[in-house]
Amino acid sequence: MSQATEQLTARESRGATTPVIQAVNASREYELAGETVHAVRSVDLDVNTGEFITLVGRSGSGKTTLLNMLAGLDHPTQGQVLFEGTDMSSFSEKQFIQLRRHRIGVVFQSFALLPLLSAYENVELPMRIAGIGSSERSKRTNEVLDMVGLGRRAKHRPYELSGGEQQRISIARAVAMKPNVILADEPTGELDSVNAAEIFGLFRQMVSEGDMSIVATTHDRTLLDMADKIYTVHNGEIELSEVGENVDADAQFKRPNAE
Ligand code: ADP
Ligand code: MG
Repeated sequence: MSQATEQLTARESRGATTPVIQAVNASREYELAGETVHAVRSVDLDVNTGEFITLVGRSGSGKTTLLNMLAGLDHPTQGQVLFEGTDMSSFSEKQFIQLRRHRIGVVFQSFALLPLLSAYENVELPMRIAGIGSSERSKRTNEVLDMVGLGRRAKHRPYELSGGEQQRISIARAVAMKPNVILADEPTGELDSVNAAEIFGLFRQMVSEGDMSIVATTHDRTLLDMADKIYTVHNGEIELSEVGENVDADAQFKRPNAE
């Protein structure tokens, strides 16, 4: 086991109560043509194991900037983002690579598929890089492609697939790695309402069954009732708007003032 992995594993056993990812008073400013853009403002957010969190907000509200910081792809200009209690900006490049390879899966808004690889190969490649054996790789690849309903598109290259299908491939690629956390940026932006609901249902199921967390951004309010926590993002700030509707399956049928 590499030193970096060893350190991460040691942190893991330190106690289940530490949030897996934690933003602490995190802000991100951009300097653009002499002006300061406050993309994210003083955000406090805990991502606990076993939670499905959605960040909902309009375009330009700061969702992608926040998600990139939670993924350690970008760092706050003030405040911190911690992974299992450690400031992510203190990770060495090697540790960060381990983190991205084994612990955090990212679904990018732009899909980030490799154009010359088939759907199958796109899903398989990160597992190959992570050193997962060939029979396990092919088992998982087939499983996740079926899961997103694209088993029969395995040999297609991205340009032979619709935007929605490419999006589902990029989700399958993240899921196949079995990370502790999936951070998904508008993972249903290209999907029709039926497919979008299926993907959120899949996320719901993965979080409920496995020992994992998901943070997904969306601007589609119809998907929100599958999440454990819903934060509204507005002008770089977040506000907890609902908690745990999903915990109580009947909650949506209860009208607080109807009794
Ligand atoms: P969302 O994902 O909710 O659409 P973003 O996080 O992409 O929002 O953007 C939040 C704000 O930060 C926007 O005003 C956007 O124009 C600005 N922004 C994002 N990235 C950059 C950048 N690299 N340089 C300057 N401004 C940026
Ligand atoms: Mg965005």
